[in-house]
Amino acid sequence: MSRPVLEISTARFAANIRAVQERIAPSALMVVLKDDAYGHGLGWAVEAARDAGVQWYGSYDVASGIEARRVLGDTGRILAWVTSTDAEIDEALRARVDLGVGSAEYLRRIIARARHLERRARVHLKIDTGLHRNGLLPSEWESVLVEVRAAESAGELALVGIWSHLAEASDAEDDEAQRLFLEAVRVAGQTGATPDALHLTASAASWWRPELRGSVSRIGAFCYGVRSAEGPELDGIEPVARLGADVVDIVDGDAVIGIGAFDGIPSSLAGCRVGTPDGPRELRRIDATTSVVAGWTGAAVGDRVWVFGPGDQGEDSATTLAERIDTVGEEILTRLTSRVRRVVTP
Ligand SMILES: *Cc1c(COP(=O)(O)O)cnc(C)c1O
Repeated sequence: MSRPVLEISTARFAANIRAVQERIAPSALMVVLKDDAYGHGLGWAVEAARDAGVQWYGSYDVASGIEARRVLGDTGRILAWVTSTDAEIDEALRARVDLGVGSAEYLRRIIARARHLERRARVHLKIDTGLHRNGLLPSEWESVLVEVRAAESAGELALVGIWSHLAEASDAEDDEAQRLFLEAVRVAGQTGATPDALHLTASAASWWRPELRGSVSRIGAFCYGVRSAEGPELDGIEPVARLGADVVDIVDGDAVIGIGAFDGIPSSLAGCRVGTPDGPRELRRIDATTSVVAGWTGAAVGDRVWVFGPGDQGEDSATTLAERIDTVGEEILTRLTSRVRRVVTP
């Protein structure tokens, strides 16, 4: 049976990157690559972003950072921010992957590995500004900076960034988080540390709250054309990927398509709108490996149906689908299994 296809447009990705860059300038775009570039494929995303002139890459973990480094060669800056093992730290140091650091314990391990390998670790220190999810507490910030400055003097470390992550629950909370963030930057400055990369905001805040942007903005969702759930459409941003499946059978006048829950489509999406060559139709049922499109009399075996996409044939977007089941567009994309063929188009 024909496999479903995730068709990925390089041109749309590049156009989204341009739109984001124009919106956030002079803040620099860090393209976030976690979860295999939000299900689009990390290698493709790095190559396309590099060709679009992107300098910064947020890989989440070290292994993905190494993969990005393989594509980028000597160019580009890569940040892996998840706390990693000593073996991973070694790999990051060898591949010149910057490390995000949210605890004193992790900092000390990095310094020890840098000393051992005689390589200077490039570190972005994370201050906890209220999310309580990995980050140095304001109360320990100063003492950790003393260790950082000592390691800098010893040639083991370079403090290249300070960062935090916003809850994006309310503007007031984000304002308070920024206040704590700027205070941390100020305290660092008093010790003589003046890292270039100050970053606080992800997609939504980078787009809508210019006053919160730092010198770098870490952006995933909007680059891939995934708008915020319950959020407005975005000027110049369009979904990069469309999910298609072919008609494999016609049963009692209904079209059966070759995609189902086992491919990662939540069966609770039944009732959504899909795109057919004859316009939008209802996806009536989602079974294990197939689904049923209702009310489409002109269907023929082999016709392509778009389950989600940029809406060219009236289909919903990943985010519109996500909103039906109270989740986010990223989840719809990243749940797709490896049975879904990734096909890159120019
Ligand atoms: C995922 C992530 C981002 C990107 O978030 P988007 O909303 O997809 O832009 C930025 N920073 C951190 C720390 C993240 O985990």
